[in-house]
Amino acid sequence: MIINAIIVDGSGTPAEGPVDIIIKQNRIDRIARARENAKHREGADAILDASGKYVLPGFINMHAHLQDERAGLPIPYDYQYKLWLGSGITAIRDVGSDPDKAVAERRKSAKGQIAAPRMWLYMWVRGGNTEDEIRENVRMLKKKGADGLKCHQMDRRTYMIVADEAEKLGLKIAHHVGVEDATAWDDAKAGTSSIEHWYGVPDAALDGVQNFPPDFNYSNELHRCRYAGRLWREVNPKKLNDVLKALVKAGVAWDPTFSIYEASRDLQWALTQPWFKDLLHPALEKFFTPNPESHGSFFFGWTHTDEVFWKENYRIWMEAVKKFADMGGVVTTGEDAGFIYKMYGFGYLRELELHEEAGFHPLEVIQHATGNSAKVLGMDHDLGRIQAGYLADLIVVNGNPLANLRILYPKGIDPVMDLQNGDKGGIEWTIKDGITYHAPTLFAEVKELVRQARMQQATN
Ligand SMILES: [Zn+2]
Repeated sequence: MIINAIIVDGSGTPAEGPVDIIIKQNRIDRIARARENAKHREGADAILDASGKYVLPGFINMHAHLQDERAGLPIPYDYQYKLWLGSGITAIRDVGSDPDKAVAERRKSAKGQIAAPRMWLYMWVRGGNTEDEIRENVRMLKKKGADGLKCHQMDRRTYMIVADEAEKLGLKIAHHVGVEDATAWDDAKAGTSSIEHWYGVPDAALDGVQNFPPDFNYSNELHRCRYAGRLWREVNPKKLNDVLKALVKAGVAWDPTFSIYEASRDLQWALTQPWFKDLLHPALEKFFTPNPESHGSFFFGWTHTDEVFWKENYRIWMEAVKKFADMGGVVTTGEDAGFIYKMYGFGYLRELELHEEAGFHPLEVIQHATGNSAKVLGMDHDLGRIQAGYLADLIVVNGNPLANLRILYPKGIDPVMDLQNGDKGGIEWTIKDGITYHAPTLFAEVKELVRQARMQQATN
């Protein structure tokens, strides 16, 4: 039982409390007014006093990748899990990893055998040469245990076949639209569950094609990322309005993953994130180092002009996401960490800040991270709210995140944040499936894990 809590529900409604949250096994049994010596407090197995603290639904990370290696070096899953749980993430939607390993991890997490978030696996579907082959690939993933599909870089014909087969099998689709002939117009037609990142949206609102320079080569990642930063400025606002309207009408959600592209607008900050000092695993560190072999590690010859374009790109992109939400579209939060200088968990907390920067009220930001994400997963009767009958996935925050989202970051990692947060700060407890995890202990364990990995790396 959690007592004396101020709660922020996942539906966008204001904070209220103090209340007591009575948990039975892995579900919230009921919410009661906090009163000392109240009958409902008698005989509780365990009482967690949340006086002065805020309780939120557990965060849902809609764009995660289970990773047990980076740049050829192993990383234990435990490293990701502890960072995720410590950052308040109690559920992930995996959008592409080793499917067999992921199925095994999902099973262990569901049985409570490991300390890890809940998992939904949207397996990466490959295309195929013939229609039969494409359909068979979708059926094969369903048999493997996919909860949904992740589509990436598909031409229109292939995507439409995949979407049709997925619908028959009841599989949802997370779509990372590629620079192909498919755009957001096709997502509106196909009934995609969510557009990942942003590709495909501005592409659907151009007059003609993007104004690429003559030497542009799409296979060159530096070219690709440099000119992606000059795409939103070429959008025709009227066409953008039409495509956003169509997406909202078709019920396609938008998972923008703002944080994963942030290095493009401020490389200096990306390289000096304060949590890298003690918590960056050497495998990630190696992967992030510019190298054409590592996806997203393209920052050779990155110029200030590139950053200026990217800052403008963000501004127009954020306006589009806000407009989409104002039209009634569902916005969710995902991190895509493990690439481009983003660490698991920290990338997610940064994502929340960027939703605020996009113009959303902190209550809406929390709603994106909880209620909205649960809805897109099809779990809105079990997750994302603090209500009787919902699963007991909760976080207890030492302070008020509505006053400063930065308060969600762990204490003692960044002197600047500690200065801002005073005696408050940090998620204190993460509760998943009724099981309680002490977030500062999880971070201390990650620190030790990293220390040992670095030592081993040095002696190899
Ligand atoms: Zn991804």
